[in-house]
Amino acid sequence: MVIQLQMATQDLNFQTFRNENAKSDEERAEILANPGFGKFFTDHMVDICWSERGGWHRPRVQPYGPIAMDPAAAVLHYAQEVFEGLKAYRHEDGSVWTFRPESNAYRMQRSARRLALPELPVEYFVDSLKQLVRNDVDWVPSGGEASLYLRPFMFAKEAFLGVRPATKVNYYVIASPAGDYFPGGVTPVSIWLSTDYSRAGRGGMGAAKTGGNYASSLVAQQEANEHGCAQVLFLDSEEGRYLEELGGMNIVLVHKDGTLLTPESSSILEGITLDSVLQLARDRGLATEQRRVTIDEWREGVESGDITEMFACGTAAVITPIAQLKAADFTIGSADAPAGELTMSLRQELTDIQHGRKADPHEWMLRLDA
Ligand SMILES: *Cc1c(COP(=O)(O)O)cnc(C)c1O
Repeated sequence: MVIQLQMATQDLNFQTFRNENAKSDEERAEILANPGFGKFFTDHMVDICWSERGGWHRPRVQPYGPIAMDPAAAVLHYAQEVFEGLKAYRHEDGSVWTFRPESNAYRMQRSARRLALPELPVEYFVDSLKQLVRNDVDWVPSGGEASLYLRPFMFAKEAFLGVRPATKVNYYVIASPAGDYFPGGVTPVSIWLSTDYSRAGRGGMGAAKTGGNYASSLVAQQEANEHGCAQVLFLDSEEGRYLEELGGMNIVLVHKDGTLLTPESSSILEGITLDSVLQLARDRGLATEQRRVTIDEWREGVESGDITEMFACGTAAVITPIAQLKAADFTIGSADAPAGELTMSLRQELTDIQHGRKADPHEWMLRLDA
């Protein structure tokens, strides 16, 4: 019912306020030559307001800059916020595309429902990306695996210290050029098994893309770094036996017959990269399985040779091969294990589709600049 009402709302009419202090061509070129990840931002941002009375209104593209907010804004106290992450890719002919944006839009609606935030209609979400990218199109890098990372987010802006869903919310999109995630070539990582911390529990927010899940993962991530690991793997919070996911990436184990196995749980974030990789595997005639997976199954599978590859996946790094899992009292795999063949071939296929180097059989790509 709610969705129908929102669909009936008339189209948003974006107002654009150009940034008079936009970066010069030279400044931008210098940034794009070595953007890293999440450090530099484009000249503009999208800002749409929502209020309980007025719904979604005042959509604008405005100069990138600080957000003025009351110190009592609810998000600063009770963390009522959700976000998304996707990329814009420049294809060889100069056109700019993104990957499965409706999936991100629907996921943001699911996250919003869990956080008692308003649902942004899917077409507004997609339109907001187009609006921003058209204004900042020169910021979309070309070549290799470079992209423009798009970060839509929404939070409770109402100034009110009582605990209830906010009646004033803002939605924004910012964009940040991203270089090759693995500039020296894709290298397998070691990951740390967290046994002291969980990222989410039954009935919690694990399936929502919300900052709170990241906040709760940070100490475990610190522990991983202290053990020389790049990422942390979380187990289920009840029994501490079943695989869940990494701090911000889903996990896949590959069986020697090519079957891809990924954990099932109501507290895992449903990754769009994961879903796409599983689809590409099925297109090749490989089997995919989503079910509960214990840490013992993984360990015994690697020891017996039944599990031959493992990788993590998410928008930022696409696919990251996992060399080993380190736990306090055992390890699975070895630090110098090479990246799996199937892992790397799926990674190549997906990035080729995203960057327009390969046909897009599932119509995953959407043009943003025209
Ligand atoms: C965003 C995210 C992922 C990966 O999702 P993609 O849609 O593939 O980028 C996985 N886990 C968590 C916790 C996430 O926030």
